[in-house]
Amino acid sequence: MKLIDGKKISNDKKIEIKNRIEKIKQQTNKIPGLATILVGNNPASQVYINSKIKACESVGIKSFHYNLSKDTSIGNIISLIKSLNNNQEIDGILLQLPLPNNQDAQECINAIDPLKDVDGLHPFNAGLLILAKNWNEILEKNILVSCTPLGIIYMLLHMSNINIEGKTAIVIGRSNLVGKPLSMLLLANNATVTIAHSKTNNLKNLCKNADIIIAAIGKPKFLNKDFIRDKAVIIDVGINKTPDGLCGDVDFDSVKDMDIEITPVPGGVGPMTITMLLENTLKAFKNRNSIKNYM
Ligand code: NAP
Repeated sequence: MKLIDGKKISNDKKIEIKNRIEKIKQQTNKIPGLATILVGNNPASQVYINSKIKACESVGIKSFHYNLSKDTSIGNIISLIKSLNNNQEIDGILLQLPLPNNQDAQECINAIDPLKDVDGLHPFNAGLLILAKNWNEILEKNILVSCTPLGIIYMLLHMSNINIEGKTAIVIGRSNLVGKPLSMLLLANNATVTIAHSKTNNLKNLCKNADIIIAAIGKPKFLNKDFIRDKAVIIDVGINKTPDGLCGDVDFDSVKDMDIEITPVPGGVGPMTITMLLENTLKAFKNRNSIKNYM
């Protein structure tokens, strides 16, 4: 088993982003700004938001944080979003999900200016992703894509020994946040993609035939060696709290002697997700300022 070091790849990417922001600052006298909105005080969400704010500061993105009480109405969240849409210092708006009290967040996401939608969840950006013919078009058009799937693709493309083109890939999970956009990104990179979910039959066989397996299920240690063939690449997106600590969707002990490459939890997909938020904030800044040549 070989580990794919998401922490290292994301740290390298952060240095590159920091350099690009410094260059932008010299040339335009402006810096990108990111607004984060947390509704309520869910401890896990608080930890995620703090990491995002810290990461912004580390690369020179100005962060603006808004903590709303857990009983804030959808209407009031939308009012805040509208005021942030009009704030010229802010290039990206991130609404931390999930919202408390099982409230549906899509109405709030729809209120975000698509140019500031750094999570890529606005229907406009989700549509652009589906319409893109290939990965180059996604890059050239600076399309804002959900951070976790984007981070996974960056990670795969970064590994010189992993080639996505022509490979069979299975994405387990079909959420708007992870599974669906990731399937589109793999397709744009010329993989042959299967999307699996809770009603999929013969999941084991489908996985056994895949070169690349993405587990985005949210069930601790769901995938064991019976699902995986030698030489496969496994991306474990799951973050699950168990009495024994944090773990992914893959049963690490069961696969540790296999000839595979795999992302650890923690230290795999998580750091890439945060770094892609920085990347998307920079992209949003560039799109809003019609800047083409800073990459
Ligand atoms: P989600 O919205 O709950 O989606 C889970 C998906 O898994 C659903 O599509 C569901 O199918 C599918 N599923 C559930 N049980 C299954 C089964 N027995 N067999 C096959 N598929 C099954 O979750 P999400 O937001 O996509 O997140 C997935 C996991 O990734 C969670 O653990 C989350 O914490 C983690 N995550 C990590 C990061 C990171 O940065 N590392 C970012 C985002 C999410 P149905 O659609 O049929 O219900």
